[in-house]
Amino acid sequence: KKVAKDEKQTTYVYIMDKNHAWRPAILEDTKGDKAIVSVPEYKNEEQMRSDGGRNAKKGQQQTIDLKEYPSKVLPLQNVDHNGNLTAYPDMVRLPYLHEAGILYNLKERHLSGKPYTRTGDIVIAVNPFQWFHDLYTEKKRVYYSNRLVWEAADQDPRDSMEPHVYEVSSLSYKGLAFEMMNQSILVSGESGAGKTETVKICMNHMASVQKGPIRPGMEESLDPVVQRVVESNPLLEAFGNAKTRRNDNSSRFGKYLQLQFDNSKMKESSLTSRSVSNCLLAGSKCDVYLLEKNRVCVHDDWERTYHIFYQLLAAPDDVKGKFWSKLKGTSNKSFKYVGETDTKKIEGQTDAEHFQHTINTLELIGISGDKLKTLVRALCITMQCGNLTFGAKGGDRDKSEITSKTECSDLAELMGVGVNDLNLAFTERTMKTRTDTYKVPLNTEAAKDAADAFAKEVYGKVFLWVVKEINAATCAEDNYKKGSMATFEYGIIGLLDIFGFESFIVNRFEQLCINYANEKLQQKFTEDVFRAVQAEYEAEGIALAEIQYDDNTDVLDLIEGRSGLLAMLNEECVRPKGNDQDFVQKALVSNKSSPCLIVNMMDRMSFGVHHYAGKVMYDADKFVTSNQDTLPTDLEDIGLMSDNDIINKKHDDEAVARAKRGPPKRQRSNIVAPTVWGKYKTQLASLMGNLRKTNSRYIRCIKPNMKKVPNVMEHVPTVEQLRCAGVVAAVTLARSAFPNRLDNSAVRFRYSSTWDKNAYPSIKNNGMAHDEALRCDCDAMMTEALKCKQEIDDKGLVKKAFVVGRTKTYFRAGALEYLESNRQTG
Ligand code: ATP
Ligand code: MG
Repeated sequence: KKVAKDEKQTTYVYIMDKNHAWRPAILEDTKGDKAIVSVPEYKNEEQMRSDGGRNAKKGQQQTIDLKEYPSKVLPLQNVDHNGNLTAYPDMVRLPYLHEAGILYNLKERHLSGKPYTRTGDIVIAVNPFQWFHDLYTEKKRVYYSNRLVWEAADQDPRDSMEPHVYEVSSLSYKGLAFEMMNQSILVSGESGAGKTETVKICMNHMASVQKGPIRPGMEESLDPVVQRVVESNPLLEAFGNAKTRRNDNSSRFGKYLQLQFDNSKMKESSLTSRSVSNCLLAGSKCDVYLLEKNRVCVHDDWERTYHIFYQLLAAPDDVKGKFWSKLKGTSNKSFKYVGETDTKKIEGQTDAEHFQHTINTLELIGISGDKLKTLVRALCITMQCGNLTFGAKGGDRDKSEITSKTECSDLAELMGVGVNDLNLAFTERTMKTRTDTYKVPLNTEAAKDAADAFAKEVYGKVFLWVVKEINAATCAEDNYKKGSMATFEYGIIGLLDIFGFESFIVNRFEQLCINYANEKLQQKFTEDVFRAVQAEYEAEGIALAEIQYDDNTDVLDLIEGRSGLLAMLNEECVRPKGNDQDFVQKALVSNKSSPCLIVNMMDRMSFGVHHYAGKVMYDADKFVTSNQDTLPTDLEDIGLMSDNDIINKKHDDEAVARAKRGPPKRQRSNIVAPTVWGKYKTQLASLMGNLRKTNSRYIRCIKPNMKKVPNVMEHVPTVEQLRCAGVVAAVTLARSAFPNRLDNSAVRFRYSSTWDKNAYPSIKNNGMAHDEALRCDCDAMMTEALKCKQEIDDKGLVKKAFVVGRTKTYFRAGALEYLESNRQTG
């Protein structure tokens, strides 16, 4: 049979390639199981673009075993009748929706300055690494909110709009205001992909949508609530972000920000009256997860500790002196935890400029005067801990003392405790038995560790205190409790900005925690995508029986199940001589039947997990200690003795647990101290519970290159992220039964010349409605054309190679390719 694809009779395909993930090629011939392709030569990846291979140097021929199809050769690029690649704003429209199709579509858009692309309801945001200011103007904001919120439309207006995160914020607002359903926007992606910026863009938009439909000439007004909510973000960044190799402004914590809207008036007013906004931002509340405390004490050469330290040290001397006289004349190198840095600016501002901004914002939320002094002194305490040095006491290597006398007395002064008490807290450990209390000396190494542990604890308290203060200043609930507002009900739009899936060369406890969160979110994502697919098929009038999909319950079972990794680790943490190696062995034994567990025969301290996004090997070193979150009592007590009101308080949750536990006993009681993971699991469970009560929308952020430069998309890391973000999985799920689809009108346009036109009802014009006639046409045409492709299923029933829905025709794998290869052109 004649093989004819486009007018030039060429079949453009993608072939898998180690260095470029997928590259364009031309299918020359197929012989039995073998495909012969010619692989055009390009100078670089940037040139591998939309030409499908036509404009490149004609390259070598390769033979590919088709048994590996479709893993090695993906059929058909998304080229139009002239063989040009068309980049679709909504990838659901791609006739061939596969990984390579997605990659090249995103690349084409990225290189033409379009960071946002849709696949159905999911927005994919490719970090442009350059600000397209035109994308974020007041005019753009108004355009999206007017069309999507304020104008009632019968059809989805998005079809005629460029994808944007403003559509996500608009639709969320609309869902809350007009459908009275709580909403959430889940933003994910790897470090530096743009999550935090995206959340800020959405948040600013939602704060402005509430002004109602905007007409030219309307006054801008800055509502104080809105201002506080919007401004609280940079504050969180000052305390929770740091410069890392991957991102100059990397969030080192997870965040779920809930915007609270007063929609009490909505219920009274008619839903159709969209002329004024009655759903107003009343406040916000932020939950935070897993601050990376280690960064307080150590950071790589190219990285930094938290921004706030550099900001503080860059402040003018007279300002610094007001907080603590000895801060005068200090610089980054005065504190070992901080150290020198080459970084001059973060996000376009110097540390000194940032400090001014931080101070202003703190004032805005009511932190000034003595409260501010307390905060800054707590920061000084943290930094000062790093300057303590220890030496063997009286030549005895098992004992230690603080050798930096001035640094020690400075710290004592800052904390408001006695020098001697401080020295003892760091160099001795109190042990208690049922009848007795005694002290064990610490060697210099252990004493240094104690100082670090204390610094991390103090900074952890500072961070949570700042979050609590922000919440107190912005939370509508609290305002309401204080009686400053009338009774109201509020609706919530939650914004989740949480660390994406991580897989490094060495993966530790932190990575397992992070990947666990991602598994939980993936589970919800899959459920939501599945639901959307179900809805689409229902709307198209297609029977559902056969959509199947893989979920990740197996992995979640392995991690959080009754005898899963978490349970085993927690057990090991309370066992008197619990250690990392025993944890690994027990975990391997009790989960040996799990399909997701990988045993490492070569290394007893390592194990692997098949995550939804790929295989990750974990190094169990320090799992047990990382999971224990209890500060030795000596350190805890010295904190409680301090006159600094931020550090002399116990953590709320710890206080509760301690109260339950009663006084310390030698034998461990049944009530177990909360472990890091235990607490985290509870936090995540509550997050997931909250999310399930909302209507969720997804923004997947992609970091197109590791150099953080504009206009470059590296194929391999991009494809990797698409897999991790579940984009490919979502697409596969959406397309599992019918991988390809075309609008009915396109089916008739493309294929009607092949068959007898007169046979079809719409041509005969028998009075049917246009769409219905078109549907009948397509059905009749495809029945004839694809009869030979039909399969018989296990039950002996005919499985049609296609289904014609109300507006689209859905093709099973291979059917559309078959049609294409039999299409007669001209
Ligand atoms: P992390 O997980 O490390 O916190 P992240 O995903 O939150 O990373 P961001 O801090 O939001 O990443 O973005 C990293 C950088 O990318 C920003 O500092 C900014 O320079 C750039 N960037 C992100 N989004 C955009 C955008 N929409 N337009 C232009 N530049 C952007
Ligand atoms: Mg971030």
